[in-house]
Amino acid sequence: MMDVKGIEIPEICAKCGGKCCKHYPGGATPEDFGAPDEGIMYNKIVEALKSGRWTIDWEGTGDDKIYFIRPAIKGNEGSTFDHAYEGECTFLTSTGCELNFEQRPEACRMLIPRMNERCDNQGYTRKHVASRWERYQELILNCAVDVEEFEWFG
Ligand code: SF4
Ligand code: SF4
Repeated sequence: MMDVKGIEIPEICAKCGGKCCKHYPGGATPEDFGAPDEGIMYNKIVEALKSGRWTIDWEGTGDDKIYFIRPAIKGNEGSTFDHAYEGECTFLTSTGCELNFEQRPEACRMLIPRMNERCDNQGYTRKHVASRWERYQELILNCAVDVEEFEWFG
């Protein structure tokens, strides 16, 4: 992962037990998958989708739909596309996130933990994450086609 900026305060999150992760997985950004190198992105996204632990979600409807990548929700693993608005992240374990800090989606890394559930998402809403993927829509859909062919004929 190229961009490992973020903040981690394990003492606060351990007490909380991952309320954010139980609500909805944090969104990944193109940089989490190697942007702006589209060759690297393609390979990493296909690999992630094939693992079944990551999925393509979207924001908006019709022509305004913008696809983005996030971890799967428990129970929905293995779906190339998933538009659930709520659900526990597949990577949450009883001892916290299964991923190393630098492997986590940017929205997870940027969330500033605070006591009493006053955590600050620093503007990393679902809409913001989706907007970061705007120029990679074709790439995401090409990855999806590749993965679904793998599932049906692989
Ligand atoms: S970031 Fe906030 S909601 Fe998420 S686990 Fe940490 S304290 Fe809890
Ligand atoms: S990837 Fe890790 S930190 Fe992010 S929502 Fe999932 S369990 Fe939480």
